[in-house]
Amino acid sequence: MNPTPGTGLIPIVEIFHSIQGEGYFSGTPAVFIRLGGCDVGCHWCDEKNSWDKNNWPFVRVEKIVKETVKYPADIVVITGGEPLMHSLNELTAGLRKAGKRTHLETSGAYPLSGRWDWICLSPKKFMSPHNEIYRKTGELKIIVYNKDDFRWAEEQAKKVSRKCKLFLQPEWSRKKAVLPVIVNYVQKFPEWRVSMQIHKYVQVK
Ligand code: SF4
Repeated sequence: MNPTPGTGLIPIVEIFHSIQGEGYFSGTPAVFIRLGGCDVGCHWCDEKNSWDKNNWPFVRVEKIVKETVKYPADIVVITGGEPLMHSLNELTAGLRKAGKRTHLETSGAYPLSGRWDWICLSPKKFMSPHNEIYRKTGELKIIVYNKDDFRWAEEQAKKVSRKCKLFLQPEWSRKKAVLPVIVNYVQKFPEWRVSMQIHKYVQVK
């Protein structure tokens, strides 16, 4: 499937003000724009309701920007779903014009569009990322569900730049079993960090 071309309309699941709970910017206030549409098919996905883009209103970019700039946060995180199923050139241009930092959270399964201050790549085994995104990635975040994910993590880490920050994050439903294994791994291989989804612990969105 090709990404939605730049129609100026993007399916929006929600726009909300919270803190970034994961990865390098963990603990930083941000506005999140969650886009509808994803066909990557992670069986443990906690945003399955976002998969069908037609379940969500298609909103004009100007309206999305207007809604977003109401909040004082400098950072706007575009997430999903899989945001790169849509052309994000217009949206990122509008947000940058409004003085916001644009951050992307993506599986990388679709071609990159938009202008980004930060890209968090969370590749999935179910649909490999496009090669072009690896060298533009600021942080690589691997969701760990089972032991094979450490092998996958190392394979993916070979593709990003040396400056890229590396994170291992337990899949939420498996955190009790997986977290001690991640901690042990990070102690052995200190180029990795633990990412914790702190927004779920403090029970904010
Ligand atoms: S890529 Fe993200 S939104 Fe899509 S199925 Fe996987 S976890 Fe869910």
